[in-house]
Amino acid sequence: MSDAFTPIAGRLIRWYARHGRKNLPWQRDPTPYRVWVSEIMLQQTQVSVVIGYYERFMTRFPDLAALADAPLDDVLGLWTGLGYYSRARNLHRAAAVVRDRHGGAMPRGLDALVALPGIGRSTAGAILALSHGDRHPILDGNVKRVLCRYHGVGGWPGEGRVERTLWTLAERHTPREQVAVYTQAIMDLGATLCVRLRPLCAMCPLEADCAARREGAQAKYPAPRPRRETPHRETAFLMLRDPGGALLLERRPPVGIWGGLWCFPECEPDADVEAVCRSRFGVRPATTTALAPIAHGFTHFKLDVYPILVEVDDDDGSTAAGPGEPRRHSSGAAVAGSDGSRRYSSGAAAAGPGEPRRHSSGAVVADSDGSRRYSSGAAAAGPGELRRSSPGAAATGSDGSRNRPLSAVADSGELRWYPPGAAASVGLAAPVKRLIEQLARDR
Ligand code: SF4
Repeated sequence: MSDAFTPIAGRLIRWYARHGRKNLPWQRDPTPYRVWVSEIMLQQTQVSVVIGYYERFMTRFPDLAALADAPLDDVLGLWTGLGYYSRARNLHRAAAVVRDRHGGAMPRGLDALVALPGIGRSTAGAILALSHGDRHPILDGNVKRVLCRYHGVGGWPGEGRVERTLWTLAERHTPREQVAVYTQAIMDLGATLCVRLRPLCAMCPLEADCAARREGAQAKYPAPRPRRETPHRETAFLMLRDPGGALLLERRPPVGIWGGLWCFPECEPDADVEAVCRSRFGVRPATTTALAPIAHGFTHFKLDVYPILVEVDDDDGSTAAGPGEPRRHSSGAAVAGSDGSRRYSSGAAAAGPGEPRRHSSGAVVADSDGSRRYSSGAAAAGPGELRRSSPGAAATGSDGSRNRPLSAVADSGELRWYPPGAAASVGLAAPVKRLIEQLARDR
């Protein structure tokens, strides 16, 4: 190896030639666009998970122009299940910026790349190094782990002081030649040998002078994020379903959790479901059923979701009865969760231990799969209360969704009825996808 190579670069490049991964989909024809998409997908996500998503994404959006011109819903639809949806939104926004301000070609400079939504210094370095061979260091999670161990760098890498040290080391180790190979090699080393638990040091080309190996303290590096209490939040999903099986979905605001994805409308877990349905949507529930709660983890908090299936009738205030069942009148009801701990109606009477809670005018209708369903007597809308518009005026959207004129929707945001099966083609929050699949199975 010539002077162009730092001590570890030479070893890593030789190791990569024999053991590195060379057939990953994004390594074929590594254009800046293809590398960029792979780098974004690989953030926080394993290679084995990303491969299928990446190939589907490239089939649908083979180049930057296709991505920039696509509706956001199509992008989010292909991202469903991959998580961290801000990545998809930023990818889409950045593609439009490149189309509009850079003539459709990814810029070659680090600063211009970092100015694009969702591209940080490491991602920009990886795009330039892997697609052009330009000399730029990278510092993704794998590289941080390798450098922390090799140099014995203490402290959490998310801390500014530690991160600056690691950037200095990354810069020092990046060779002047074969930058793309070196970059791939150090990422591969972190992904395959210098793994988080039980690194395979005996096979590592850096073993001879690795500080962590010498100390026998691989588990000490990198130091974990300082512990803090994870906040806990709760919400209820209102799963409004019409007699034809269509579900009411609401597009979430573009920022925040599940930004831009379709979700069930939400309310407070202790809200009066009937009142919410009437005031927000102008519909009267026929029955409400509390489904099993879902626990969903985000990076910064945990979310407990209480799904409530709300069957809504036609306007005559009644719903079709199943075989052997009495015809049920519409109107909301009290609901208890499967553990008996959740209450959704302010009109419910107290229940004894182990008993379902009952609405004052209602009766238990069903008790299946651990959930309890109640119906109650019909309640007419009072003066000034909101009512659902005639179902005869429904229209069908280009994506198969049915736009029902919910004339009395009080909140802003987009609401649509999705017939069974149609929701699968749009971007859905992960728990929503699970619930829709569960409903389809149970129907
Ligand atoms: S010797 Fe072990 S700890 Fe050190 S870089 Fe190699 S795999 Fe990581």
